[in-house]
Order: sequence, then structure tokens, then C-alpha cells
Amino acid sequence: MSLASKPGVRSVNREALLGKLAEWNFPAYRADQILEWLYRHRASSWESMTNLPKALRKMLSETFEFTPVEVVRCEGSADSTRKFLWRLGDGALVETVLIPANPALYSDPSDRRTLCVSTQVGCAYGCQFCASGLDGFKRQLNPAEIVGQWLGVENYCANEERNLEKKEGSAGSARTVGNLVFMGMGEPLANYDNVLAALRILNAEWGGGIGARKMTLSTSGLAPQIKRLADEPEQFRLAISLHGATDPVRDRIMPVNRKYPLKALTAAIEYYQEKKGRLITFEYILIKGLNDGEDQIEPLAALSRRLHAKVNLIPYNTVEGLPWERPEEAVQEKFLSRLQERGIIVTLRREKGHDIDAACGQLRLRTEREGILSAGVFKARDN
Ligand code: SAH
Ligand code: SF4
Repeated sequence: MSLASKPGVRSVNREALLGKLAEWNFPAYRADQILEWLYRHRASSWESMTNLPKALRKMLSETFEFTPVEVVRCEGSADSTRKFLWRLGDGALVETVLIPANPALYSDPSDRRTLCVSTQVGCAYGCQFCASGLDGFKRQLNPAEIVGQWLGVENYCANEERNLEKKEGSAGSARTVGNLVFMGMGEPLANYDNVLAALRILNAEWGGGIGARKMTLSTSGLAPQIKRLADEPEQFRLAISLHGATDPVRDRIMPVNRKYPLKALTAAIEYYQEKKGRLITFEYILIKGLNDGEDQIEPLAALSRRLHAKVNLIPYNTVEGLPWERPEEAVQEKFLSRLQERGIIVTLRREKGHDIDAACGQLRLRTEREGILSAGVFKARDN
């Protein structure tokens, strides 16, 4: 829950806005004007919506909050992986990662980029290897704060482009983000209603205009919510953070597996596929000595064959204070080829990103530990 007393305007869908306009006796076409200001022009104040009557702007400002999402840190360059750290209205920190287009992972071939979005502040699921859960769960993000991460990045990149192009005499306008993955901080399916409301705003023609098949929800394995998602009308993609192909391995690193062991998880995935078709990916972090051995190959191949799932192998990113390490490259490659030999569609993430803490929760953790924000050393880069 946000601390703001009024709902964020970016939490509101077109229908709710139409309802408000009718209540206030304003014509319906004003809704489209407002949405255009919010999502096409990326307005950041009511005053800038110059074609709206003053009386309407007053009603809007009394009813809704322009949820502030302020960029406090941006690392990485314009053409590589780039990480944004945001400060929310109550001072909480969340992060968003902009990844170069990589059709082999979640995107269709396109030159647009993939944005990795956070859905909670912290995480209650306590996976042993993950920085996001280290300090426990703080709060849910509301839809405006989830949508705000996307808008903030689009805005940042458009400003940057405009600054660059000014020198060449034209204005930056193109969209940067083509794909969304909900793999940042938090467990999206544990914030189901807010995440779904945000997905629908991001998907709507009047909103983000991003296709449902270009959005991937990642879950550590919340079986009941996977089934619930299967019953929604949209065709969202689903990534399952598997990280172990047997219960003993998953039990060791993912407490959620004790509640929903592989039998329950696979049943939920099968249900999802019956309803949605083959939209499943397994995420499998390779952790040295834990899940990178020969014993996982056959069970992993069997699971992905049975569930028609593609496998993404991700070499573990070390987290300060945690004992886990990534396996040697030769071990990673061997794991990959063992699966390929069995006819599994599998990719091994070889790109860099280690240097900017490219795994979820790490930039926030480091920033908080360094006390950088309170010392006021970092400012958003605006070049
Ligand atoms: N809670 C959801 C989504 C956020 S985590 C989930 O668990 O799926 C997104 C992905 O980042 C997950 O696959 C997660 O396991 C992975 N991840 C977390 N810490 C990591 C690390 N240190 N190195 C590599 N991947 C990591
Ligand atoms: Fe939470 Fe996902 Fe991290 Fe597990 S991996 S602690 S579910 S964010």
C-alpha cells in the first residue's frame, strides 16, 4: 500500500476515469485527452494539460496523486544494460533494469529493449541466493508505481535522445521499451491484483500499448496464483524460477517449494498451458556445487519436455554476504550441452552485467548498505 492518501492517477484505468467524469458532469471525450497527456506526452503535472478546463484540472488534482517516482541513480551506458534506482513517495527504493534486445530470451525479434520491472519493495519468499529477500518484505507496489517505472524509463531515454538530437536539430520521440519482464524485486504473483491492474494499463491501447505476449511474469512457483492467471483473458507469458529440478534441491534454496512442491507446481503449469498454450520458460540459475551437477540433468530435461518449456540457464551473480558462487564456465557449458543433447531448447546467458549488479535487488541493497542516498553523493545522470 502506498502512503499517499489519494490514489495515483496511473493506477486508474479508462473505465474508472469515465466514471469520474460522468460523476463530475464532464464529457466522456475528456478521458481520452487525459490519457493522452499521461501516456503519450508523459505529462508530470495537471497544469501542463492545457486543453483541459481549469475546473476539471482542479477536480483531478483533488482526487488523484501524480505518484512521484524519482530517479536517484542510473548506471550503465545507453547501448548496454542499464540500471535505474527509483525513490518512491514514501522514500522506498526500487530498481528497474533496461536490457538490450535479445530475441533468444524473452523478446520477439525487434530492436526495442526489454525492461525488467519490480513489483514489491523487498520480498517475503526468502530464496537463499537472492538479494531482494535479504531484508525481508517491506510493502506492495501499487499499479501507479509499477507503471511509473516504465514511464520513468521512457521519459529518461526520450530526454536523453532529445538532448542528443538537439545538436542535430530534431526531437526524440521513439519508444524505447518493447518487452516487459516482471523479474525485478519482489514476487509478482504475491501482489496479484496490483500487478494485474498495472499489466492491463501497460497493455491498453490508451496506455502503454505493449502486447500481452510481450510481457513475462516471473514466479518462484505460487501454484494457486498461476492457475488464477490462467483464467484471465490475456495471453501473458510466464517464467518459472525453477533453479532445481528435484524437490530436495529446490527445498534447500527456495522455501516456497515446501508449500508448493514440484508436483503442485507442475500441475499448475499444466493447467496454465491447457488454457494458454506454450508460453512457459524455466529460469535456472547455475549455482556452484548446488544445482549444476549431473543429477539435475535428466529431471530437468524430463520436466521441460513434459511441460514444453524452454530453459534459460543463468550463471549466478554473487551477492555480498551470501555464500553462493557461479560455476566455472566449462561447467556451465557442459550443463548446457547435456540438455541440448537431450533435445531441450536451452540458452545460456553469457552477457555481462555482473559489474552493475544485474540480478534483482542488488543495486538497492548495495545503495542502502553504502548509505549513499543519505550522504547525497549520487544524482541521476541527465546527459
Ligand atoms: N520473484 C520472482 C521474480 C523476481 S526474481 C521470481 O523469483 O521469479 C527474478 C529472477 O532473478 C529469478 O529467476 C531469480 O531467481 C533471479 N535471481 C535472483 N537472484 C539472482 C542472482 N544472484 N543471480 C542470478 N539470478 C538471480
Ligand atoms: Fe523473492 Fe524471487 Fe528473490 Fe525468491 S528469487 S526471494 S521469490 S524476488
